[in-house]
Amino acid sequence: MKENSAIQIDRRLERDDLIVIAGAGGFIAGALARHFHDLGYTRIRAIDRKPLPEWYQRVPGVESLSMDLSEKESAIEAVKGAAEVYNLAADMGGMGFIEHFRVECLRSILVNTHLVEAAWRAGAQRYFFSSSACAYNTDLQKDPHVRALKESDAYPAMAERGYGWEKLISEMFCQEYWAERGLETHIARFHNIYGPHGTWFGGREKAPAAICRKVIEAQDTGSGTIEIWGDGTKTRSFCFIEDCVLGIDQIMHCDRLIATPINLGSSELIAINDLVTMVEEIAGVKLKRTYDPTAPQGVAGRNSDNTFIRGVLDWEPHIPLRTGMEKTYAWIAQQYADRKAGKRVVKD
Ligand code: NAD
Repeated sequence: MKENSAIQIDRRLERDDLIVIAGAGGFIAGALARHFHDLGYTRIRAIDRKPLPEWYQRVPGVESLSMDLSEKESAIEAVKGAAEVYNLAADMGGMGFIEHFRVECLRSILVNTHLVEAAWRAGAQRYFFSSSACAYNTDLQKDPHVRALKESDAYPAMAERGYGWEKLISEMFCQEYWAERGLETHIARFHNIYGPHGTWFGGREKAPAAICRKVIEAQDTGSGTIEIWGDGTKTRSFCFIEDCVLGIDQIMHCDRLIATPINLGSSELIAINDLVTMVEEIAGVKLKRTYDPTAPQGVAGRNSDNTFIRGVLDWEPHIPLRTGMEKTYAWIAQQYADRKAGKRVVKD
């Protein structure tokens, strides 16, 4: 299995080709802009609808624009001159968000619909779409001891209401733009990405960040308790942000993966109760647990089957959960302290 330094790339851009990254004021696309900048690409255009001061990270030397890409004219403007377009712009969050704001999730279809058309018209060489494990058939995810999901499990379709259906139909747009119009598209189904510079409070945060924050809060307030959504038996796998950006780069530049959805996730399955124990160990505390059975929880279990990505790329996300959670916990602890001190922090 290849290490990070030997990632699989079929073709590379010229250093001064224009890379357009949508959603770059958010978590993953912000990290992707930094990745390409650090590789030496000189023309990166980062776009998000959030005002610039609210972006999670700003990368020096990267052109940063605040535009709403659900507007057709903005999408056309955004991709002018682009060699590659990465669409990671979506209205999304953890279960608390996607169960309550299904219309907002569905409306992200506008972003991909305008952006893929604009990219094709502008003559872009390659287009990337960030899909999700939520596109998979929910009937296959009713058991915490879940069989890992392989790419063919999306059909027959019974995606997550709202968010998952938007992902599935946007995947189809990407596949048909290749089949009918020859735009080279690449599609990754992300499985729970986590790490520093992600949202950690406010309602859009996901389980790893929420648990870190709650453990920090319990220590800070002296409550000694943590509230867990559901009964803690639900299982998930979580993929660290550094693996995610390396995976995006490889998937986008792999000829065998044109218009072919592929899992980008870890196969290290863990129950929420065990994730809480892990964070307690990192923090060096033991908390009393309470459970909220009425809180949004999503499917019973979900894991990533990495057979396909291993076969194609000779690589898969491999950073251990414990390693990634230590980095995430340390970053959130710093954010928490900064917020308390009245400094600007990452928020939803
Ligand atoms: P994020 O919320 O941190 O970033 C998404 C960004 O898109 C936000 O900054 C938001 O302002 C921006 N955006 C939304 N609508 C827009 C619009 N109309 N015009 C311009 N910008 C707009 O989320 P993330 O975790 O970085 O997710 C990035 C992508 O990956 C999304 O497509 C998401 O659905 C997908 N994904 C993420 C995960 C995960 O675990 N984080 C899992 C599966 C799929």
